[in-house]
Amino acid sequence: MSDEWGVMGKRLSLFFLGGLILGVVFFQPFPTRAEKDSFVSVSQSGFDIFHAPENPQPGQAVVVALRSRKPMPETRAQQPLNMKFIDRKFSLEPVAEGWRGVAAVPLGTEAANYSLSIKVKDGTELALPITVVAHDYGEQRLTVPEEMATPMLPENLQKIKRDRQHLGVAYGSSGDSLLLAEMVRPPLSSTITSPFGRRRLLNGKPKAPHGGVDFQAAVGVPITAAAKGRVVLAEELYYSGNLVIIDHGLDIFTLYMHLNEISCRSGDTVDPGQIIGTAGSSGRVTGPHLHWGVKIAGVFVDPLRFVDDSKHLLKVPWEE
Ligand SMILES: [Zn+2]
Repeated sequence: MSDEWGVMGKRLSLFFLGGLILGVVFFQPFPTRAEKDSFVSVSQSGFDIFHAPENPQPGQAVVVALRSRKPMPETRAQQPLNMKFIDRKFSLEPVAEGWRGVAAVPLGTEAANYSLSIKVKDGTELALPITVVAHDYGEQRLTVPEEMATPMLPENLQKIKRDRQHLGVAYGSSGDSLLLAEMVRPPLSSTITSPFGRRRLLNGKPKAPHGGVDFQAAVGVPITAAAKGRVVLAEELYYSGNLVIIDHGLDIFTLYMHLNEISCRSGDTVDPGQIIGTAGSSGRVTGPHLHWGVKIAGVFVDPLRFVDDSKHLLKVPWEE
């Protein structure tokens, strides 16, 4: 009996010891998901450079931030900077102790290693290596009236030309500093009928890939601003129909297409969730829906992915 208790006692103590070892092994401070999702950083030429996500896909934004490891003269620290990535230029705004900005990977970019270059005002050139990973967005075939797929009528071509000029003015007017102060939110809650990035064949002819995401929406459903910003275009265009474009600063724009009614005007400041119009079927459509787009310095990114990536804009990484 006492012997049995002795064996049991040993077994029990072994059990507890085992549990203790397992506890130590498994409850080590493993990197949490939040840490995994946050910025990766490198140090180069006296600067700390941060970016997120670590490996973007074509059609995804890359948030970049940097700071000097030694104090910089005030005047230099307060000047905006530019960065170049995959042959495109993006802006960086001065923030407390450094700079931050958003670059983007265009659709169709090959999976490879790229260099994001930043020229600091003291002449230092930084080169941040970023690996773009592949993503297949798939393909879609659509049938629309021929004059909508490939317009031929002179009045339509005239209108398209005028639309391009208006879009150029709108996209050329972004604010120097970021306006959005909270995470981007989709402009309505609904089923996705066509995801971002699909290669498109319109009436059998290859066209630009889908530059936004389509939400199922009946005519008249209210559409809201995805983030704080300034309306830079609110008018009817040939392809987009009734279109609203909101500037969120730093060349970040959100687009709302095929609206039935527009209830804001160019120049208006809008708050997140503010109604800017109602869904409709204006422009080149096969039925009523909302096409929502996010364009960063001329590059369309996946709006739903940007909803998630916008969390990297809420804080500069050294404030974490
Ligand atoms: Zn669409």
